[in-house]
Amino acid sequence: MSQVVQAGPAGRHRDDLERLLALVSEYNPELDRELLERAFVVSSEAHEGQQRRSGEDFVHHPLGVARILAELRQDDETIAAALLHDVVEDTRATIEDVRAEFGEEIAQLVEGVTKLTRIHFQSREHAQAENYRKMVMAMAQDERVIVIKLADRLHNMRTIEYLGKQKQLQKARETLEVYAPLAHRLGIHAIKWQLEDLAFATLHPRKYAEIQAMVNQRRADRETFIAEAGETLARELDKVGIPAEIAGRAKHFYSIYDKMAKRGKEFNEIYDLTAMRVTVEREGKEGERDLYGALGIIHSLWKPMPGRFKDYVAMPRLNLYRSLHTTVIGSEGRPLEIQLRTREMHETAEYGIAAHWLYKGRSGKPKEAERVALLKQLADWQQETDEDPGEMRRAFPELGSDEVYVYTPKGEVKSLPASSTPIDFAYAVHTDVGHRTVGAKVNGRIVPLHYQLQTGDFVEILTSRQAGRGPSRDWLSLAKSSRARNKIRQWISRETREETETRGRETLESALKQHKLPYRKVAGSSLLAEVIREMGFKKAEDFYLALGSGKLQASQVVNKVLQRLKTDEVAEEELVPARPKARHALESQNFGISVEGLEGVLVRLAKCCTPVPGDPIVGYISLGKGITIHRDDCPNVKALMRNPERFTAVDWDGGASQSFRVQIAVTSWDRPRLLEDVARTFAEHGANIVEYGGHVEDQMAKNWYVVEVGDVKALRALLNALRALDSVFDAFRVTPS
Ligand code: MN
Repeated sequence: MSQVVQAGPAGRHRDDLERLLALVSEYNPELDRELLERAFVVSSEAHEGQQRRSGEDFVHHPLGVARILAELRQDDETIAAALLHDVVEDTRATIEDVRAEFGEEIAQLVEGVTKLTRIHFQSREHAQAENYRKMVMAMAQDERVIVIKLADRLHNMRTIEYLGKQKQLQKARETLEVYAPLAHRLGIHAIKWQLEDLAFATLHPRKYAEIQAMVNQRRADRETFIAEAGETLARELDKVGIPAEIAGRAKHFYSIYDKMAKRGKEFNEIYDLTAMRVTVEREGKEGERDLYGALGIIHSLWKPMPGRFKDYVAMPRLNLYRSLHTTVIGSEGRPLEIQLRTREMHETAEYGIAAHWLYKGRSGKPKEAERVALLKQLADWQQETDEDPGEMRRAFPELGSDEVYVYTPKGEVKSLPASSTPIDFAYAVHTDVGHRTVGAKVNGRIVPLHYQLQTGDFVEILTSRQAGRGPSRDWLSLAKSSRARNKIRQWISRETREETETRGRETLESALKQHKLPYRKVAGSSLLAEVIREMGFKKAEDFYLALGSGKLQASQVVNKVLQRLKTDEVAEEELVPARPKARHALESQNFGISVEGLEGVLVRLAKCCTPVPGDPIVGYISLGKGITIHRDDCPNVKALMRNPERFTAVDWDGGASQSFRVQIAVTSWDRPRLLEDVARTFAEHGANIVEYGGHVEDQMAKNWYVVEVGDVKALRALLNALRALDSVFDAFRVTPS
């Protein structure tokens, strides 16, 4: 079957291949030997004559990468792709060759890794963010690509000594800044720690040697200490029937260095140094019960250190990590750090996302939901970096640092990046809750919005039901989570768009007025619509945006309108404004309006300007009729200002859910079934049509509708939906001005 491997370049490395196959068959008895042998032969023949800097045949590298992946217990396709991962980049073979020989799946993996290999992380922020994005995008297609890439980097770091000094430093820095955090993000700690220690040894060889010496110096002493504590614990666990394995645990040099550097601690102050791991044998609910049972025994044997207990079983971290952590005072007052987990939790802790491809013979089902959740998070991570390259830097701290866990009023747990504020929490609950936040209570007390959430806080968000409210720009400096920042930014840019459009409409209005042209009549006319179309705009919205942002001059538009008025001799009478003939009285109890200092007062909505919730309003005391509510820009208000003493402060209190009537004008190119589409849109937005009318003029349908809507927000959504309809040219609220 494998006679091809007897001679030539492949033959020389036959032993290495056998060792790899043996390693894979340990966890995968059904391995496809033929596939891996073929991948090996193709790889060694393609790389024939190439050598690494160390002087070894090049094929040692793909073999080494494949071995790392076999240690992570990856599937046949991943191992085959690892053997072939540099073939397209470094030899004459093409991706089509790989596809023809090994099929689509393996070809895609090799292609993905090849693309990533071409990325070089430069020091410039922009290039970095751009490159992260590429990595994450590659991952969204097939996560195994990134797992292979991480193994590739690990093998290169293991042989980094053969590179020039400058190259070494650059690779080590890149490893520490890009690859190790990525491995952490994906929960592949087995690779993360090795990358960190190798990079650390390259960047700070003296410090590395120092820490190594200190750790070794106390090894014997530490091992005795752990062995004794372990025996005591094993006896107690045995008594209550909790089967478990107890072992000492090596600390990684970089994490010791990191703690010393970041927290300014001396070596002997780092009590994590003596660490033990308890792995309980049972899985699932039983396993979890055993973990808490064992924890109880540990805390009754030794005194726990305050603030050191972490429950990542009930509250898993963002990268799926689950374990119980505690530190206790052991014999002679020596601190002892203990981690408790089940075997399955251990595998997830070591292999993270790569655990999902662990050979299928393993017990337990695929955790599709977890995988999807993680990918979604990575996708968010990708999106948030889309606009501002500097954003990646700000988003990056949350990769390595801790999270805080807080509760919703119902006791649900939310995990957020450290130093998150109530704003982050609000957006984690729901985008809409975020936008409507006005304050927050933590553990029953009102806190400022810049309050830093602590693990264990019960957080309640106070929202405003008032429409038209939203986040302010300074929230961006309060929000720590990328989700919240993203949502706030989206809201602000949408607001800006609306403001620009309004400015456009106003610009046109004043320009028309200067030429004594009635804006209201021109705006709804087919004449203006034709001018707009002639200027290359399909939708009125885009036209007003161009005007508002100054890309288009209002004078140009006015000139064109004037020209047409002259040539077409359009009589002004024809510019009929769309107005309803009948008006309905708008009467109700309070319309959700509160009057300062008064309760139960009769409130009426002015018919002239029909305010809806969210509009800025004023109240006018009409003798014998209670208070009339006008929009504060209503022309009648100006007239009434002769009696300023009759005005009173009013506000929407948002307490009542009522409908408000507004008039909406819709202009569109006439087409069959238009009315049907418009009516459906109203219905979909819960807007009840009370009256409507209209006419067709020069192929342009000009309709108006009086509808009942909930508030300004609902109205805004409705207008946007109407504008999006095919052949609708413009849709706007008709207000007297
Ligand atoms: Mn490689």
